[in-house]
Amino acid sequence: MTEKRWYDTTRWRRAVKTFLADPDNALCALCQKIGRDTPATIVDHKQPHKGDYDLFWNQENWQGVCAPCHSAAKRMQEIHGYSQAADLDGLPVDPGHPWNQKEK
Ligand SMILES: [Zn+2]
Repeated sequence: MTEKRWYDTTRWRRAVKTFLADPDNALCALCQKIGRDTPATIVDHKQPHKGDYDLFWNQENWQGVCAPCHSAAKRMQEIHGYSQAADLDGLPVDPGHPWNQKEK
């Protein structure tokens, strides 16, 4: 089964429903970082699974996000390797962002 089809399974849809029903995952993780409470509607892989079966199904690697965050922030992350999401002070929240890297 190819990775695209993992999303198209009863197992995935059930797992998503259960995951987002958990109060810990009910709000968009990315919006919360900037102090906004937005209901999460999508399960996002914190670390892109890139077709890795175990990483895909590992709920430790899941977070609930809203649709705008999923399409915007994650696309930036995939292109640049880090999230452009910023907190209320305008500082990037992703530890992988260059601003958060210690100087070598
Ligand atoms: Zn959001």
